[in-house]
Amino acid sequence: MNKIEHIGIAVKDLEASNKLFAKLFGKAHYKTEEVASEGVKTSFFMAGPNKVELLEGLNEDSPISKFIEKKGEGIHHIAFEVDDIEAEIARLSAEGFRVLNETPKKGADNKLVAFLHPKSANGVLVELCQEIKSISNKQ
Ligand code: ZN
Repeated sequence: MNKIEHIGIAVKDLEASNKLFAKLFGKAHYKTEEVASEGVKTSFFMAGPNKVELLEGLNEDSPISKFIEKKGEGIHHIAFEVDDIEAEIARLSAEGFRVLNETPKKGADNKLVAFLHPKSANGVLVELCQEIKSISNKQ
């Protein structure tokens, strides 16, 4: 596992939070992205070398909406960069962590992602993410 790739924060109103975090960091978010399969709308900020992802649920069934309903807004997950997500999933499963999706899925920001259940990681929802390498230069 490499560095922390980003920290995910669950928010109720992405537009309002984009303004709030722009004030906090002194600059605007650099992109927004909808991940329909996850039922979320996200925006990304850089604070120095660190990335912060804001997430708003697109509907009531979204995991983000359910999280906010239970716990309120706040830190939702910590994402770690990995070089080989499938190898990490296999390693962490063998170590006894509960992997929520054994098959990596496409997340925001051009990443393959997998999550570990917070119950198996001291209450922290851990996201593994691997950059999707462009396949165009292989042709
Ligand atoms: Zn994330």
